[in-house]
Parts: sequence; C-alpha cells; structure tokens
Amino acid sequence: MSLALHGIGIGGGVAIGHAHLISHTDIEIAHYTVRPEDIAGEVARYDSAVKTARQELEMLWGSIPENAPTELGAFLSLHIMLLNDQTLSVEPKEIIEKRKCNAEWALKLQLDTLLAQFDEIEEEYLRERRTDVIQVTERIFKTLAGHDMAMHTPAPTDRDSILVAHDLSPADMVLFKDSEYLAFITDVGGPTSHTAILARSLDLPSVLALRHARSLIHEDELIIVDGVNGVVIVDPDERTLTEYRARQDEWSERQARLQDIRTSKPITQDGIEIELFGNIELPEDTDQVLENNATGIGLFRSEFLFLSEDDLPTEQEQYEAYRAVAEQMNGQPVIIRTIDLGKDKIPKWQEETDAPNPALGLTGIRLCLAEAQLFRTQLRALLRASAHGKIKLLVPMLSHVGEVRQTRRHLEEVKTQLRLEGIPFDEHIELGGMIEVPAAAFTVEHFLHHLDFASIGTNDLIQYTLAVDRNDDAVSHLYDPVHPAVIRLLHHVISTCNRVGKPISMCGEMAGDPALTRLLLGLGLRRFSMLPARLLKVKEQVLSTDLSRIKPLIVRLLEADDIETLWQVMEELQA
Ligand code: PEP
Ligand code: MG
Repeated sequence: MSLALHGIGIGGGVAIGHAHLISHTDIEIAHYTVRPEDIAGEVARYDSAVKTARQELEMLWGSIPENAPTELGAFLSLHIMLLNDQTLSVEPKEIIEKRKCNAEWALKLQLDTLLAQFDEIEEEYLRERRTDVIQVTERIFKTLAGHDMAMHTPAPTDRDSILVAHDLSPADMVLFKDSEYLAFITDVGGPTSHTAILARSLDLPSVLALRHARSLIHEDELIIVDGVNGVVIVDPDERTLTEYRARQDEWSERQARLQDIRTSKPITQDGIEIELFGNIELPEDTDQVLENNATGIGLFRSEFLFLSEDDLPTEQEQYEAYRAVAEQMNGQPVIIRTIDLGKDKIPKWQEETDAPNPALGLTGIRLCLAEAQLFRTQLRALLRASAHGKIKLLVPMLSHVGEVRQTRRHLEEVKTQLRLEGIPFDEHIELGGMIEVPAAAFTVEHFLHHLDFASIGTNDLIQYTLAVDRNDDAVSHLYDPVHPAVIRLLHHVISTCNRVGKPISMCGEMAGDPALTRLLLGLGLRRFSMLPARLLKVKEQVLSTDLSRIKPLIVRLLEADDIETLWQVMEELQA
C-alpha cells in the first residue's frame, strides 16, 4: 500500500528509485570480566582499535575527491579530533583497568556517560554533535569487532538506488559522494546537522528527519523522494508515479534551461540592471562564483577561516587567503565581512561560551571590539590584501552607531601603522555595515552617516525581529520572511538607503530565494548576494520581471493588514 512520509526537504529536485537500506549500526555489546594478567592486553587491544579507526579516518580524509564540498574535510577532522580526545582515547582504558572488563564494555560505559552529558545540553548545534560522538564510537566498536567501516555505505545495488539510512556520518558521505545513488533519506538530522549541511552542498534530492523511514520502507521497494517539499512516497501508484515523473522532467529541463542564461546580464524586462553577487565561506568557493558569472563576492564569511583551524590563523595566513580571493576575482568587488564569531560559531581555540543567551551576547562586532588585538590583526591582513584587488569591508551585527565609529578608529590606526611601515594598501577601501539587528534597521540613516554601503542580513534580522531562533526546528514554522514586520523593516532600510544614495545589498538567505526575488525588486533592492548555486535561479526571475507591473502590488502588500491579502499579493507577484 502506498504511503507518504514527511521530513525536512533539503532540495535537489525529485528522484524515483529503489530503496537500499543501510543496516542499523547498533551493536550488541558483549560484557565479560578480564583476568588481572590479561588487563594489559585488553588495554592494548583498545589502543590498537583506536589507532585503526584513526587510520581509517585519515585515509578517508586523504581520499576526499577534489570537487567534494569543503565541509567534508571539516567534519572528518572533527571526528579525528573526537577520537584523539582523552574521553575516547584514554578514559575507556582506565575503565578497563578499574572494572576489569572487556574493551567493548568499557567503551559502552563511557559512551553512556558522554551521551548523558549531551542530553543536558540545550544549545542545538552542540546537541547535534552527540551524533558525531556516536558515529566515532561506532567506528571503534566495529574495529574492535574486526569489521571494515567502509562496508557501512555499500555501493548501490542498482543504478536507480536510493539510500535509506538511520543517519549518515561525514565519513559515509565521502564514500557516498563517489557512489551513484540517486538520492538519500534519513531518519534523523536537524536542520543544522552535518547531514543537512552536506546534503545542501551535494545538491541531490534528499529528505531528513523522517523518523521511521528505515522501519517503514523495505529493501528494494520503489520510492519517490521529493527533496523540494520534504516528502517521500513509498510504493507509489501509477498515477502518482506519472505525476512525479513529469515533475522530474520539469526539474531537469529547468536545470538545463538555466545554463542558457549563464552569461546573460541580469536586466529586468523594463531595462533595470540588477547586480547579483555570490556568498562564500572559504577561498575555494570562489570558483563557483566565477562559474555562475556573478558581479562579485557580496559576502565572504571570513570567520570560517577561524573555525576550521586548530589555532588562530596568523596575519600572514589571513592575508594570503584574502589576497587569493581578490586576485581570483580579478578586479571584481570582494566584500569581506570581518569576523562574525560567537553564537553558534565557536572556534576550537576559544573557550566554550557560558553566556546565558549567546545570540544576544558577545558576538560579531561586539566580540571584535572587545578583543582589539584579534580585530586589528584581521584589519591589517585585509588592508594588505586590498592592494591586490577590489576589497571592501563589511561589519557584522551592528546595533550602535558607536560601533562603526570605533571600527573606523581601529581602521585608521592600522592604516597609519602600515603607511609607516611602507606597506601598500587601498587608501580608499570602503567600509560597509550589516543591517541584521532591528535596532540598526530602524535607525539605518544614523548608521549611513558613517558607512559607505550597507548589506541586509535577513537570517539574523528575521530571527531577532520575530524572536524565532533560526536554528531551532521546533519554531521553524514561525520563521517567516514575509511577516509584515519583516517586510516593513526591509522596505524602510532599502528605501532609506536609496533615498540618501548609499548602496544597499542583501546577503541573507532571502536574497537567494527565487520566490522572493520580485518582492525584493519591488521593495527597491538592486543588489543581491547568495549561495552560488542560487545565482541562475534568481537571475531567471530578474529577467522575467517587469518592475512597472509589480510596483502597485508592492503598495498593496505594504498596506495589507491581513494575512490573506498578503498571500494573495505574493501569488500575484509570481504570476
Ligand atoms: C544574515 O544574518 O543574514 C547573514 C548573512 O549572516 P549569517 O547568516 O552569517 O549570520
Ligand atoms: Mg548574520
């Protein structure tokens, strides 16, 4: 009988194929007492299992395909780090000695303790790292039992296989990248889990958090995966199949059609030229921005250079990274955001935060102004790199005008130092500010006195305006980019910037959502910055938009005082 399951859709279109179930990794754990004279041998057996597991992970690290998403390396290194941590590399051996038990049982006791600690954690990102600990211990268990972990993600049995798993570890994903699965679905995985992040970058149809997929779906059963709507249909009837085959064809045609506009200029039907920029997290993402013919880089989230390393990157390392991007962009603008750490972005070298509410704590520019040395080192690296391309600076999380003034003071002092040292830099480097806190949005004109340009960060602006944690799936239904309060704020910021003649762009996820492109164009936005994979979809919307037609709709939208009118106008905008 046909059955529909609902989860979190990660995109990538529609796939129709046969289920291939990955066996659950739960293992029966044996428990036995070890004789005192055998304890040393048992400890050595544990040591050897950890060593083998580490070698396996390092081997996987070395075999990451060149075109694999950059996150893969980061996730594998996280697993290697967990394996090296003394909670897994040392403490289980102490348990073996103390309890005179076998290595498996010692590891199980240690895992139970660690998981109990994770259950106490409220912060979603850290709670999701619980899965990493399970995956790493499973690897040690399997090594103790003499199994090869590479078997965990077997090759597809057929060319139309869809992988059905309880969860996929980053190491599985490395293998998965090279395999020929059409799609994958999992029982677990929050919206910020590793699996979700990787799924987005792989751009294959995928649905997560289906909860019981593995028990409801049988091996080889025909399934449809709709990654756009987060739906999985098990054993579909002929009519449903026909419907989804048509959607599949539509999707492929659309993807192919998009390539036709790769080199077209983004100009509306009535001749208004729009600028489309790419967002990057690491220098290697620049290729994708160029491949999609973007105007430049509208947001380089520089803090990612600080997240993936064990130590703080030096001035020279930062300089080389910024310079590489500037040179690759060859004179096209590169907007580099100064470090936006804090909240969920805590680097390895920093103490875990015990702030009661990190999203409202020492984050973004607040952290930089509190850690002047960290900030000035970055400013030096950025200024030095500015001699090699069109770099602009962008300051995150502004809420007080004083923060811009202080930033300018630091910038001027670093410039003076460089001049004295005879180091070249762009004397006219522009300074922009992120408008992502409602306070800055309401009073944007005050900020504009001190800024060369502004960029709207809708991800945070929506979270703070609606009091909805952007990472918490429990309230994700309330995270509404077209809430009237959000639209009015956007309108205020965009029209104020346009009135005073300061360039305004948007670099939050809203800018890359083609369903919202016309709304934003109607609100007066002319510069959009987004994930490179979204560039052509948004360009397609720009090319088909007649601004004179949508202007009256925007007036109605801004006046709408009920949700029905708002949605009706949104529909008319898309017509
Ligand atoms: C935003 O908040 O919209 C933004 C672009 O910054 P981030 O997503 O890095 O917080
Ligand atoms: Mg932000």
